[in-house]
Amino acid sequence: MRIPVIAGNWKMHKTVKEALSFLSTLRSEPLPGNVETVICAPYPSLPALVEAAEGSGIGIGAQNLHWAEEGAYTGEVSARMLTDIGVRYVIIGHSERRTYFAETDESVNRKGKTALKHGLVPILCVGESLEERESGKTKHVVREQVVRALDGLASEEVKGLIVAYEPVWAIGTGRASTAEDAGEVIGFIRRTVADLYDQQVAGEVRILYGGSVKPGNIGAFLAEADIDGALVGGASLDPESFRQLVAAAA
Ligand code: PGA
Repeated sequence: MRIPVIAGNWKMHKTVKEALSFLSTLRSEPLPGNVETVICAPYPSLPALVEAAEGSGIGIGAQNLHWAEEGAYTGEVSARMLTDIGVRYVIIGHSERRTYFAETDESVNRKGKTALKHGLVPILCVGESLEERESGKTKHVVREQVVRALDGLASEEVKGLIVAYEPVWAIGTGRASTAEDAGEVIGFIRRTVADLYDQQVAGEVRILYGGSVKPGNIGAFLAEADIDGALVGGASLDPESFRQLVAAAA
């Protein structure tokens, strides 16, 4: 009943030319129609990617936005600028932005509200650090992040967004979580959404796992009942490996 999502997070990779070459390779064979396929690219490539993805079913996303409508925020990009060029998704609160760019639960909440107001699908990222995991605080940390990210959002808004559980220690390290652990935390996130809203909202929100997902391990994650797909960094940069990830979710 929940449509699986495979979202690539290219981070700070690929020029416009490289992005278009990826997309044309990816489009050279049809993708399964029953998987929501998303590519989140750096800002400069977004207009070209939206155009090149037309008719393919591939959704294009940004990796950040500003919460304000517009104004004196040098270097920032607004929701309206993204929707204007046909962007449909936006990653919010990725751990790299929390770590290097002072993203907080409050800014994540504000950005999520702005994205939803403009009809963008937020991909809200949460996840514990290694230290937090080792001291047994995973669920506490993740619950806090979810509660604060969703603060003030209506049920209808929450149903339409995507949560990505990405343990910080698993991102870009080649050391993925076990599928069982990820399934347990994601089940816990779903129960948290049920506590905050109701069973119906919890049953509809898509929750992804992210952190060193590869074609070789995605099957185990997808086999977990509560895991609806993956947010993928490194393995999304190559079109053949990305295609395999999408095929695994079909
Ligand atoms: P990774 O990154 O797949 O390279 O671990 C995941 C992410 O940061 O979204």
